[in-house]
Amino acid sequence: MSALSTRINNLSESATIKMAKLGRELAAKGVDVISLSFGEPDFHTPEHIKEAAKQAMDKNFTYYTPVSGYPDLRKAVVAKLKNENNLDYDFSQIVVSTGAKQAIANAVLCLVNPGEEVIIPTPYWVSYSEVVKLAEGKSVFINTTVEQNFKISPEQLEAAITPNTKLFMFSSPCNPTGSVYSKDELEGLAKVFEKHPHVYILSDEIYEHINFIDKHESIAQFDYIKDRVVIINGWSKAFAMTGWRIGYTASNSEIAAACDKMQGQITSGTCSITQRAGVAAYEGGLESVLEMRAAFKKRRDIVYKLLSDVEGVKVNLPDGAFYFFPNVTSFFGKSYNGRTIKDADELSIYLLEEGHVATVGGDSFGDPSSIRISYAAAEDKLIEAVRRIKEALGKLK
Ligand code: PMP
Ligand code: GLU
Repeated sequence: MSALSTRINNLSESATIKMAKLGRELAAKGVDVISLSFGEPDFHTPEHIKEAAKQAMDKNFTYYTPVSGYPDLRKAVVAKLKNENNLDYDFSQIVVSTGAKQAIANAVLCLVNPGEEVIIPTPYWVSYSEVVKLAEGKSVFINTTVEQNFKISPEQLEAAITPNTKLFMFSSPCNPTGSVYSKDELEGLAKVFEKHPHVYILSDEIYEHINFIDKHESIAQFDYIKDRVVIINGWSKAFAMTGWRIGYTASNSEIAAACDKMQGQITSGTCSITQRAGVAAYEGGLESVLEMRAAFKKRRDIVYKLLSDVEGVKVNLPDGAFYFFPNVTSFFGKSYNGRTIKDADELSIYLLEEGHVATVGGDSFGDPSSIRISYAAAEDKLIEAVRRIKEALGKLK
């Protein structure tokens, strides 16, 4: 019998991290693997941000930090929310964490009681349902399809809410689909939430700046629900700072105090040097962010054209983030070399072993009909990757 707790035994390993690990292991054996499994910008962190971190060390920013982050960092977040999103927050409502991942865990653990329902539209980012498990909540899924651009309707939301619903969790721009909710679409959902004052909303906006259609819209802009919205955001995607580990929540004061208490017992404030870098990022303007966004858009267009050309793959044009989530059901039941593809997870392993391209199967995103392809990689790598995918899929009969 395992010595481990039921809590950890019931938790699934992060599928994104698992596939990245498998890809690295194969590469370590000398195989030329193209990794499109991890959602991580391939750009370096901009120089002015790195410079601020070097100076932070020289200036001895090496001590414990306030649990919720340095006041000037939280004030920089407040200024960003005002200037970029026209949202008013006090710095005491901002809790800076060790990545948006911890910010999400804080919010869910602080809000959800055992047995309470958390509504999550599918496909969703892999960690959402697992954090709900940790909180002993009950995930309730609303299914979407490629035909509806993976976005839920107000009617679907209304039908999913019960007296036991505590939280609704979503990302826009979305990981893994790249879908972006418009202001009108968000308003349609906000009107439903207005009728159900017991439901809180976790709005994951970490891909805010990787949006190819319009300016970013936050569901917190609707005053009548703002107090119940917890915004999640961070530096990982916009500023290519995945390894620095910094993200935040913006919420009402009660939830902010709870998140502060939670992380005060688990991690304390995130790294002092990272926080100084975070200030420099927010005060340094968006020039590098816009350059990266332009590169992502160009890659999206290249990959879309190539993927649309692969027989049996059904793909939509994502409006943001850096992922494709193509439907691959037409390959289920097909075989190559004695191996039959049962589902998307198996197809993803097949593409790694046969095509040497790492992707992630859709099961962990709550949608077993698709695979996720990250296009946060150089153009030549992307072109070669889709060529390999096409070749490997073509062998399945
Ligand atoms: N939310 C979404 C939708 C993500 O894709 C990620 C991936 N990193 C995160 C949150 C967490 O980001 P981080 O912890 O690096 O800030
Ligand atoms: N969020 C990224 C992804 O979806 C990074 C991996 C992770 O944190 O799970 O791939």
